[in-house]
Amino acid sequence: MSIDYNKHYQKCVDAVKSEGRYRIFANLERKAGRFPKAVYRSPNGTEKEVTIWCNNDYLAMGQHPKVIKAAREALENSGAGAGGTRNISGTTRYVVELEACVADLHNKEAGLVMSSGYVANEGALGTLGKLLPECAFFSDELNHASMIHGMKDSKQQKLIYRHNDLEHLEDLLKSVDIKRPKIIVFESVYSMEGDIAPIKEIADLADKYNAMTYLDEVHAVGLYGSRGGGIAEERGLMDRIDVIEGTFGKGYGAMGGFITANTAIIDAVRSYSPSFIFTTALPPAVSAAAMAAVEHLKVSGVERAKVRENVALLKSMLSEAGLPFMKGESHIVPLVVGEATCCKDVTDILMREYNIYVQPINYPTVPRGTERLRLTATAAHSLDDVKFMANALQDLWRNHSMLGSVAA
Ligand SMILES: *Cc1c(COP(=O)(O)O)cnc(C)c1O
Repeated sequence: MSIDYNKHYQKCVDAVKSEGRYRIFANLERKAGRFPKAVYRSPNGTEKEVTIWCNNDYLAMGQHPKVIKAAREALENSGAGAGGTRNISGTTRYVVELEACVADLHNKEAGLVMSSGYVANEGALGTLGKLLPECAFFSDELNHASMIHGMKDSKQQKLIYRHNDLEHLEDLLKSVDIKRPKIIVFESVYSMEGDIAPIKEIADLADKYNAMTYLDEVHAVGLYGSRGGGIAEERGLMDRIDVIEGTFGKGYGAMGGFITANTAIIDAVRSYSPSFIFTTALPPAVSAAAMAAVEHLKVSGVERAKVRENVALLKSMLSEAGLPFMKGESHIVPLVVGEATCCKDVTDILMREYNIYVQPINYPTVPRGTERLRLTATAAHSLDDVKFMANALQDLWRNHSMLGSVAA
């Protein structure tokens, strides 16, 4: 009896296709210095220049001259790869300096750099949970997949509270024996909603119920706070949070993830987490690029100010046009279409007729019926780019009756 493995996996792919969730990735070539413009190559081989409206390089640090220079120098100095895990020989000067740099960013004793933000969450939460017998996680229902997988890997109890709902969180905290160790896990800026967690109130509950706090600032580092330390820095709350996690892949325009905390916590994750121990370290060029971006944004507020200006203009134009965007406080502007095919149609028309690239956000990333465009105005968009986008959306909503059904 032979097993047709190929056929089996093809069936799995067909299932995704039949649900309309099969993805074809847009083939884009960003041009350093020209972002948010990029060259788009369509499946039939044609090329055109498009403006990207769904990228997380919010501050355009990926093309910043200082960042490119740092990466180039590290590449030429040390070569392409780190050559080993951190334990063996991958601990280069560049990662050591980067860890000190993020610890300083969040005013913590220590930092630990990992392969990505995903790996940092998954590795840190898995390890912190496993090392804390009888602990319970309290997790916001909209937390990112990386945190969910980390908590799951720890095999500890997990209680899910309704999004940003303090009463529900407190009910759940009350329901668990006060003597048991607890970890509250949440994000500052929620990436699909664009809203911000009540960090102070959550920290107050953590004190009241003797819980540890773990905060994902992935969409906030670089963008908020006078040195780019995120929402907790902006609100003067960094010392109320036990572990602050972030990425170099979004606002810092490079790649890699990190956690910062007191030395004991960092040392525990460093010593126990398989996701940290058994993988090759970040390459010198990537570490150097990340560090140049973090250091630049500790002292420069120009990029943050430009994002705010663009986002304010976008929100005010969408508001005036009566378009149904979700009114969060952050720089992320989700525009609700409310139906999967329609959402895809809108993005196809934007690409075909306006040379604007936005990826539709559909189930399972967001609940059915709330399909949306997630618009990100970066520091590199001009005010004209913003106006062009807002006008294009207004045209679409005016000319396509199917879009009228979701009210602002
Ligand atoms: C993107 C994202 C991550 C993962 O970060 P990467 O560096 O891209 O792996 C973690 N948390 C949240 C909330 C994210 O949106």
